[in-house]
Amino acid sequence: MSKSTDELFKNVISHAKEYGFVFPSSEIYDGLSAVYDYGQNGSELKNNIKTYWWKSMVQLHENIVGIDAAIFMHPKTWKASGHVDGFSDPMIDNKDSKKRYRADQLLEDKIARYEKDGKKEKADALQTNLDDALKADNLVALRDLIIEHEIVCPVSGTRNWTDVRQFNLMFSTQMGAIADDADQIYLRPETAQGIFVNFLNVQKTGRMKIPFGIAQIGKAFRNEVIARQFIMRMREFEQMEMQFFVRPGEEMKWYAYWKEARLKWHLAVGTPAEKYRYHDHTKLAHYANAAVDIEFEFPFGFKEVEGIHSRTDFDLSQHQELSGKKLQYFDSEINQNYIPYVIETSIGLDRMFLLTMINAYEEQDLSEGDKKDSRVVLKLHPCLAPVKAAILPLTKKDGLPEKAREIMNRLKLDHNIIYEEKDSIGKRYRRQDAIGTPFCITVDHQSLEDNTVTIRHRDSMLQERVAIDQLDKIIGELVSWKNLLAK
Ligand code: ATP
Repeated sequence: MSKSTDELFKNVISHAKEYGFVFPSSEIYDGLSAVYDYGQNGSELKNNIKTYWWKSMVQLHENIVGIDAAIFMHPKTWKASGHVDGFSDPMIDNKDSKKRYRADQLLEDKIARYEKDGKKEKADALQTNLDDALKADNLVALRDLIIEHEIVCPVSGTRNWTDVRQFNLMFSTQMGAIADDADQIYLRPETAQGIFVNFLNVQKTGRMKIPFGIAQIGKAFRNEVIARQFIMRMREFEQMEMQFFVRPGEEMKWYAYWKEARLKWHLAVGTPAEKYRYHDHTKLAHYANAAVDIEFEFPFGFKEVEGIHSRTDFDLSQHQELSGKKLQYFDSEINQNYIPYVIETSIGLDRMFLLTMINAYEEQDLSEGDKKDSRVVLKLHPCLAPVKAAILPLTKKDGLPEKAREIMNRLKLDHNIIYEEKDSIGKRYRRQDAIGTPFCITVDHQSLEDNTVTIRHRDSMLQERVAIDQLDKIIGELVSWKNLLAK
């Protein structure tokens, strides 16, 4: 069953909906663009990815602690971080279709088209001009490039463009009853700033010694103008970020450490290494002295999942200046006060979720001779699987449901377990395969006699007969976090 990657991606999206992983937000009102809800299986998978990250960061590192900062922050935070003045995208509208586009993305698409058509020189020249215009913040030059390269609106097909304007990506709202400017606050566009403003609180109360890190998982909001590719680019999304505070001058050593450590985390779940690559930034943000993306090969190409950034002392210095509060650390080993340097690791939880689904999704042809058969299986790592085992009585009578419930009631104290008695056993197996349940435990008449059950393994579909007493151990071993964390 070979499918084009496009088709495969579409199938993953519809599978995610059909099996309760991801729904469009407020779907009964036709949805809200680039906002999604996680369903009964999706939220389990998402929680498991969070747990994997949190345990790897906080539990395994003596010198990393976690916090949970509020989404709303003092508005000066975003002045200090540079988001009020600089967190914007260059936008252009087509006057005929009234559609809005990111000017740089229109040009990137054109470059890709030149490359596809073998016009390498043209592609390279445009890339250079685009880089120059972006670096100089030259909006007129961006528009000139769009005109010069005869870029048309994909909807209207015309070249009737407005000027290019900057469009800030932060959502704002009012706090309190009186709506004046002073009360305007923002929904955080990244979780990092909640860590920076708490740097001293955590350092002092946790008696943390440099180098140390603060980790956080939480929602972030960006008014993305072009939102596409399902949960790849959302307006409300979740980040898992860690800021690692180090002695100035030692940041490159730690940057190299985290660059390697983070890729290892990705590979431990069993993703083939060739699906990942590093993309080193050559153009650095003004506050960074090194930056790399960890990219995954999505069906629509290699795209960023996680960024590792050496942010110098930019954020803490800015907050020190705007708040008037000293944000320094006394390093007793060298007898010096300084503002620490920071290495950030920042991963998008939703993108991690998407790549996990894509990686796990497999359409298998199980036909034998004339007997047609197939299944869709999610080969999720057992630690990440939403449901760890399904308990299936072979029939609804003869005391089998009671026996099955007995097993269920014991196992559910440790794991997320499902009980199912509807439909044929084959259909029930297929439903569990489709949500990635590693084990199906079938209770039959023999179970009543000798206290054994069959246990079916998702990937191999092989069944074995085991004593009910053994189930805790078998399941416990396979879904133990140790399997992931020890790697
Ligand atoms: P991009 O270039 O794709 O817009 P970015 O460089 O702006 O991403 P960062 O600000 O570095 O992203 O955010 C860190 C991580 O947060 C990204 O690696 C990505 O996984 C995730 N992320 C950023 N924006 C979104 C979004 N709109 N929807 C989902 N995840 C996002």
